[in-house]
Amino acid sequence: MTVKKELPKFWAVVPAAGVGRRMQSSLPKQYLTIQERTILDITLHRLIACASLEKILVVVSPDDQYWQSLDISQHEKIETVFGGEERCHSVLNGLKTLALQADDNDWVLVHDAARPCLRLADLEKLIAELQEHPVGGILGMPVRDTMKRVEVNGAIIETVDRTALWHALTPQMFRIGLLRNAIDDAVNSGQVVTDEASAIEKKGLPLKMVEGHSDNIKVTQPADLALAGLYLDQQH
Ligand code: C5P
Repeated sequence: MTVKKELPKFWAVVPAAGVGRRMQSSLPKQYLTIQERTILDITLHRLIACASLEKILVVVSPDDQYWQSLDISQHEKIETVFGGEERCHSVLNGLKTLALQADDNDWVLVHDAARPCLRLADLEKLIAELQEHPVGGILGMPVRDTMKRVEVNGAIIETVDRTALWHALTPQMFRIGLLRNAIDDAVNSGQVVTDEASAIEKKGLPLKMVEGHSDNIKVTQPADLALAGLYLDQQH
């Protein structure tokens, strides 16, 4: 008798525990609205549309007063986890909670709550291109502008060769066990990694870049709200 090996499953972790200081708003940016829907609600519906995902763990601040009032917080595919000081601590909490139900060889897609314009096609492309990979990779975009290295006082030092430069977007998709260990090690050694890929890079593991679309912006500053609204209109 042959024992059938289970195929790896796909899970998502959505860090949404930030306060969004750069938005100059009293409301955390994931709760600002575009077309009368919160950014978080739009983002989560993009992930729910992907049938491959088993569950989506949303990481919110323990002080969050808005999350439970969103209908989507009660969705059958959504679970709530509490976040930490920096994004990497929030993601790590999500990964530790995920370990209770997922296999270390399963996949996790970490996606910023503040990226509501993610296309389902990009999400599915990321999964299709990485699912045979031993480690994982991320969605990104080649840099288009001429790049400069600049001093804090604004003085230009030099032009940086852009041919090998990419913007790192999300989702970032990795084997759950590898990513948890990589972020755990980074955090324990006092390093704050700004994305999952950097923790994997520090381990010297191979990871892949998958080209996505430039409309997958992270809402960071007030002007980004209008831009995200335009992209969402265009996608419809
Ligand atoms: O602040 P930044 O734009 O880099 O945040 C990226 C994502 O990480 C946001 O969705 C934010 O809510 C989340 N985050 C978090 N926990 C923190 C800080 C940020 O989940 N402590």
